[in-house]
Amino acid sequence: MLRRVLILSLLIAAVALGASRDPRRLLFVHIFAATTDVPPLDPPVDEGSDVRWFDDYFTVQQIDADTFAIGEPRYHDRNYNYLIVGDERAVLFDSGPGVRDIVPVVRDLTMLPVTALPSHLHYDHIGNHTSFGEIALVDLPFLRERSADSGVLRPTSAEHLGFVEGFRRPYLHVGEWLAVGSEMDLGGRRLQVLHTPGHTRESISLYDRDRDQIFVGDFITEGPTYAFVPTASLGDYLRSAVSVLEKIGDETRVMTAHRLDPPGMPELARDDVVELRDTLLAMKRGELEPTGSFPRMYSLAGGRQVAADLPWGHSWE
Ligand SMILES: [Zn+2]
Repeated sequence: MLRRVLILSLLIAAVALGASRDPRRLLFVHIFAATTDVPPLDPPVDEGSDVRWFDDYFTVQQIDADTFAIGEPRYHDRNYNYLIVGDERAVLFDSGPGVRDIVPVVRDLTMLPVTALPSHLHYDHIGNHTSFGEIALVDLPFLRERSADSGVLRPTSAEHLGFVEGFRRPYLHVGEWLAVGSEMDLGGRRLQVLHTPGHTRESISLYDRDRDQIFVGDFITEGPTYAFVPTASLGDYLRSAVSVLEKIGDETRVMTAHRLDPPGMPELARDDVVELRDTLLAMKRGELEPTGSFPRMYSLAGGRQVAADLPWGHSWE
């Protein structure tokens, strides 16, 4: 009963808020949270011979001698986090929802100093960040100004969305601000920080030109592209897809943060980003008929889906 009253109140509030895009989207996420139970952990499945089970929860898969996918295939969103190791330091790109402590896995793989860096601030990517002390964050004015005095950044509800599963918003101590386009020097290995908004406005990707690898977070995943959450923007998405395609080549390995089906880590390729760009272009031209109510699902010939807002919430600016 209480849940129904809550949903009804939220729906009325959503209607009342009308065209205000991000608050309306946030309310839809609240409605989703209020009407959906958090799924339990799935039973482990056969992950194939390339994957090692670290324990009963985490998996480790080697991408090359210094690069590891740390998987959470039993978690319902099937998160994959990446440990990228240089000669002097390592970067942990995303740390999962925090259902389990990722530190022992990371420490099993490297004893170098590890900097946790989020692809974006959604709860399922920063759940273990506070375990790594001071973190690195992309240097965007709207983030920097909020933590100017304290050096501490607490994601907003709309940035974090952790209420969906009962995760509290963390206080992130930022020790390193990474300029857009700059390179992180890990010692013998450089990672370029690319601002790739679209899924969220603070989303980044890491590009390792020498190894022809790009780590993209939720920019593109094996499942639908989520362009309907608060701060998501179709215009940003299209620009990011174009800029990523200008960077990467035909052979670039595209490492993403969520998997659909086993076995192993979710790895995509340039063609997937091309399909994402072309789907967005067709949406912009009004050529695609969406399915579903909210989010509305768009795809080219039944291919990769873009999950978007209702038409009046589309912004191509
Ligand atoms: Zn996300």
